[in-house]
Amino acid sequence: MNAAASDPQAATPSGFQTYKRLLGYAWPYRGVFIIAVIGLLVVAASEFSFAALLKPIMDEGFVERDEVFIQKIPLYLTFVFVARALGQFVESYSMAWLGRKVIFDLREQMFARLMLAPTAYYDANASASLISKLIYDVEQVAQASTAALRIMLQDSIHAVVLLSYLFYLNARLAFIFVLIAPIIAVLLHLTSQRFRVTSRNIQITMGGIADVAKEAFQGHHVVKIFAGQKHEQIVFGKANADNRRQFLKKAAVAAASVPLVVLTIGVAVVTIIYIAVSNAQTDNISAGTFVSFLGAMLMLLSPLKRLMHVNEIIQTGIAAAQSVFFAIDGPIEQDHGTAKLGKAAGRIEFDKVSFQYTQNKGDVLRNISFNVEPGQMVALVGSSGSGKTTTASLLFRFYPLSQGEIRLDGKNINELPLNGLRENLSMVTQNIVLFNDTIKSNIAYGDLENLDEVKLMQAAKAAHVDEFAKDLPNGYETQIGEQGMQLSGGQRQRLAIARAIYKDAPILVMDEATSSLDAESESKVQQAITTLLKKRTTLVIAHRLSTIQQADLILVFSKGQIVERGTHDELIERQGFYTRLYETRIQSDIL
Ligand code: ADP
Ligand code: MG
Repeated sequence: MNAAASDPQAATPSGFQTYKRLLGYAWPYRGVFIIAVIGLLVVAASEFSFAALLKPIMDEGFVERDEVFIQKIPLYLTFVFVARALGQFVESYSMAWLGRKVIFDLREQMFARLMLAPTAYYDANASASLISKLIYDVEQVAQASTAALRIMLQDSIHAVVLLSYLFYLNARLAFIFVLIAPIIAVLLHLTSQRFRVTSRNIQITMGGIADVAKEAFQGHHVVKIFAGQKHEQIVFGKANADNRRQFLKKAAVAAASVPLVVLTIGVAVVTIIYIAVSNAQTDNISAGTFVSFLGAMLMLLSPLKRLMHVNEIIQTGIAAAQSVFFAIDGPIEQDHGTAKLGKAAGRIEFDKVSFQYTQNKGDVLRNISFNVEPGQMVALVGSSGSGKTTTASLLFRFYPLSQGEIRLDGKNINELPLNGLRENLSMVTQNIVLFNDTIKSNIAYGDLENLDEVKLMQAAKAAHVDEFAKDLPNGYETQIGEQGMQLSGGQRQRLAIARAIYKDAPILVMDEATSSLDAESESKVQQAITTLLKKRTTLVIAHRLSTIQQADLILVFSKGQIVERGTHDELIERQGFYTRLYETRIQSDIL
């Protein structure tokens, strides 16, 4: 995981700012919050009513034996209990509703943002870490926004009432008690910081666990073949232990902070007892006042302890919210183009294009220039790592150019809206991406709302998908599993080609689309590709010799530059890079 790209510490806003922003998410639903508070008040009122009812029950029920009142006692009490039950339900459910709604909104927003994130963002952030944020970090926010709010409401009211009572009994002694407030404040401040740091580390280590597990699960074939179980267990154990360590660090702060508060209060109590007893005469403190005062002070312990604990929940929530907001505020693809294009004829121009993935890695492409006329086929050949895939991905605007310009039908692609550009482009690669859905949905992917059945069948037939799809138990409605695991390599490749045919874009990029296929499935795929290539501008990368030999133009890449260009015959005549490539690759039939 790239720390700079995902570490919330980079420009951490304060806890207060974060909390304010989080409350902003709850603000639209303040009505629900008010309902919850009403529920809370009903509970409090019914508790009070119960205590208040005890007096008439005693006086009129036991002493005066008022028959009418005695008959009504069960009615009153039942009413109080029903009210309490209802109040509690309303409060609990409204709070839960509010919390889940905030979570729902945060997740939606985070996912929407990630869908717009630039390719470089995905290069830099492990996908499992992002998933962990979406699941774990967002979930942590729920606690802060509901549990904390509830306890805070209840206990701060409690504490204020008790404190006021202390002042009412004896202002001087109460003032001594208040003197501990700054100490508690300092404690709160110190523990808050620790809580936030450890919570952040817990989140990161959660992401770490997800990363390791995802790799091990996805690579289970390799793990089995190379007996990597032990190694994976060790790597996983490390991530797991990291996570546990961070949790324990947090637990230590939590476990120490509450006793510290109790201790502080204890010191205050001792001081107050001493002063009260020594000055009893001069200060006119009666035994009754003293006992009352002591009782109220001790009763203050529970709410203060809980408020201390709430701080832990709040800090965890703030750390989580910071991480979530960091993702929500993450970069998105630049998409300011407004030029109109519609369906392109398919003329591509690369004009002195240079590119680097990162500043420190230097130029990956240097001064790349070439033109492709509508309907032409251009082959990009060259050794692995020479920049062919990078060249193609720039056409899709996956990355911003460092220098130069790419034009489509004479228009700078940066001046086109991303949608307008990409609807004209299609790509089939060696890395087939299929979704855990039906065959049909995979072919018509991106166009599922107005799926065209006729077009779908045409694409499926042309790509030789129909041959295997119609024999499957549910035909085109068959689920193909994650990454299409329930299909063979050739079938998956044909499905990917069907998707490209269905899209029917005027420009097509084929990046090593056939290099991983066996001969039998390749001939089918080859037929599918031939259909696909018709009447389209095409860039083919590392393809069958027969295809490359027919190319209108061959560009030979070496170390990020085009070192030779021409048709097959021209290049063979030159006896240069291409000839050497051709001679070494002729056996494998792939260039
Ligand atoms: P080819 O397709 O010709 O085999 P690529 O275009 O994939 O080559 O890669 C060209 C160079 O760019 C290689 O040196 C590779 O290490 C580097 N590279 C490719 N993808 C990335 C990426 N996402 N981030 C950083 N560097 C990359
Ligand atoms: Mg490549």
